[in-house]
Amino acid sequence: MALQCYRSFLARPGRYLYLTATVCGCYECDLKEDVATARDLLELVLARLPPRARRELAAQVAKLDEELYCRTLPDPLAYRRPRSPGEEWWHWRIYDESSHL
Ligand SMILES: [Zn+2]
Repeated sequence: MALQCYRSFLARPGRYLYLTATVCGCYECDLKEDVATARDLLELVLARLPPRARRELAAQVAKLDEELYCRTLPDPLAYRRPRSPGEEWWHWRIYDESSHL
């Protein structure tokens, strides 16, 4: 499901994509709509998979990561947000500020 969320996010049209924050903020909604949450879950799953399955999933995720990195922009104001330890780069990309209005 996380992989599907990641793929459908990248399947959106446009040169640049903005991450979407959810209105609700619960984990289920975040997992479906906030690609950073989906990417976190993939990271967890990767750490728990046996080596062969991990290599296969890691290869798919690496391709998606590359595309995500190219198609999102670094958030210059990310330092203003509270940051939890261990947060990865995909949390510091620009969010669509109007998506929750
Ligand atoms: Zn919800």
